[in-house]
Amino acid sequence: MKDDDNPMSKAHAAPRCTANSKRTGEQCKAPAVKGWSVCHFHGAGGGHGAGPSHPSWRHGMRSREWTEARAEINSLVRETRKIERMLSGGEAS
Ligand SMILES: [Zn+2]
Repeated sequence: MKDDDNPMSKAHAAPRCTANSKRTGEQCKAPAVKGWSVCHFHGAGGGHGAGPSHPSWRHGMRSREWTEARAEINSLVRETRKIERMLSGGEAS
């Protein structure tokens, strides 16, 4: 029988899941979900969005945007203190 005659040949040629089995350590041989490199069992189609749609989102003050803003402010404060110390002649206050 030619390969083209087998209606399952296309299904068998489907890209395979790239995950490795936790139990055997071998690669999972299940077909990968379309648009993913893994099968459904190994996480395809899962996860959630970032930002306010994230299930753990509360007030947004821990968001990347605010965390970066705080880091910037803190570095400015550090810089200011350094300048203050320099202006005071390095005396211990
Ligand atoms: Zn898999």
